[in-house]
Amino acid sequence: MMTAEMPSPLGHALAGLAVGFAGLDPNARPDANLLDRPSTFLMASAVVAAMPDLDLLFPVQHRAVTHSVGATLLVMIMTAVVTGQVTGRIGWRWVWGMGLAHASHIVLDWLGVDRFPPLGIEALWPFRHDFYISGWDLFPPTDRRLGEPTMIATNLHAALYEIGIVGPITVMAWLATRRRKTRVLFSVPAVPPPPSGAVADKGGISDRPAPREAR
Ligand SMILES: [Zn+2]
Repeated sequence: MMTAEMPSPLGHALAGLAVGFAGLDPNARPDANLLDRPSTFLMASAVVAAMPDLDLLFPVQHRAVTHSVGATLLVMIMTAVVTGQVTGRIGWRWVWGMGLAHASHIVLDWLGVDRFPPLGIEALWPFRHDFYISGWDLFPPTDRRLGEPTMIATNLHAALYEIGIVGPITVMAWLATRRRKTRVLFSVPAVPPPPSGAVADKGGISDRPAPREAR
């Protein structure tokens, strides 16, 4: 099989990280529950952003259904179900974060080079079955043909472009997170955070238990 990925998992993971930083809860603490930790959210964003290319491992068409808004919706629904099951309420930050991380893959591939027809991605499945590509060739193709003499050079070239284009966006998203954190640090100290058990009742009326999110 000669299908070249465009861009590589590196570029996709960087874009996922950018989405993760942008969607990070500024109050998230590294010692919180696994689902509330910033590292979990960032890691999940990076993995979900790279995930559509797993279709290469299966006997299905590459850059088809896994690279579509239909798959983005599926990721969001699955995230809603999982966070609902694990925490008892739907984690909307997670739902939108994972949805955008997945969508970033579609955008990056759309901006990349493709040499093998059908060119591009089946971005609007299941609503349309056409393949789309921008033609902007922003990301050079990668090469997965082991042993090919030009493979290392091709992939290095692609990686440099990905780091050069997506890297600054990721760094900016990270810096913005740090600024949000500083703001929280300066505006909150007067009000100490409630003990973790009280957080769940914050929205409810004090003499009634907060109603569970309907599913
Ligand atoms: Zn892809």
